[in-house]
Amino acid sequence: MAMEGKVIVITGASSGIGEAAARELAAKGAYVVLGARREERLELLKQTIEHEGGTAIYKTTDVTKREDVEALVNEAVQAYGRIDVMINNAGISLASNMSKTKVSEWDSMIDVNLKGVLYGIAAALPPMLKQKEGHIISISSEEGHETATSNVVYSATKKAVRVVMDGLRKEVQPEDNIKATTISPGVVATELTDHLTDEDLLNMMDTYIVGPSLYPEDVANAITYVLEQPDHVAVNEMLVRPKPHE
Ligand code: NDP
Repeated sequence: MAMEGKVIVITGASSGIGEAAARELAAKGAYVVLGARREERLELLKQTIEHEGGTAIYKTTDVTKREDVEALVNEAVQAYGRIDVMINNAGISLASNMSKTKVSEWDSMIDVNLKGVLYGIAAALPPMLKQKEGHIISISSEEGHETATSNVVYSATKKAVRVVMDGLRKEVQPEDNIKATTISPGVVATELTDHLTDEDLLNMMDTYIVGPSLYPEDVANAITYVLEQPDHVAVNEMLVRPKPHE
């Protein structure tokens, strides 16, 4: 796919991977449509992208609300007449041991990481089926491949995302001309762990030697790679981890 003029909706675009992807795709000529809750960050990102010569619009979006995600996709379709790519990127990670029974945090992770992705598919799929073209990308995690101790529910949501995307890939028909891709990053240096509340884990992190991590731009590069493949190539899954160092 040549990126010029492609309409790309990105959830969780206000920081980290979503923000890096928005900048990279806009720099390549895509019209990016940004969704997240923090409006001031979206406005700043829109200005940055425009300063860099790109095109961006945004709509404040809470992916736990189906009507918000629909409104985000509608914003893209109304502005540009179509949606080429939906990137379900918004996510939260609230690690804790199961014995702490932080059930409201489990609920939040299910709502954002799984239901948010489902709402993204529900919003993007109908216009894509109508236009007989589209690409849905969802961000899972290496923890959707290997169950993380102390972050089991997060792992469950990320594994579920892989299941949903695999099922979507199998369901769409060749004539639908829709690709489905899951990208699973390893550790990325972003704001993801800033919302941790578990005191034992927070104390542990004070003394924890942080291993190698990716930059958000590395995952943005993976997204670009997936999108720039020729029409006959479908990248179904990608696992991108930092190279171990001594
Ligand atoms: P960030 O915390 O930097 O970004 C998360 C994004 O999700 C923010 O833009 C945030 O925006 C958005 N978000 C959170 N809750 C909601 C909500 N209810 N509605 C809409 N947007 C929401 O972290 P990352 O960039 O690292 O995370 C991006 C994705 O990558 C996530 O799915 C994460 O699970 C995944 N991932 C991250 C890894 C890492 O090590 N960082 C590793 C593997 C996967 P706002 O608060 O403004 O709404």
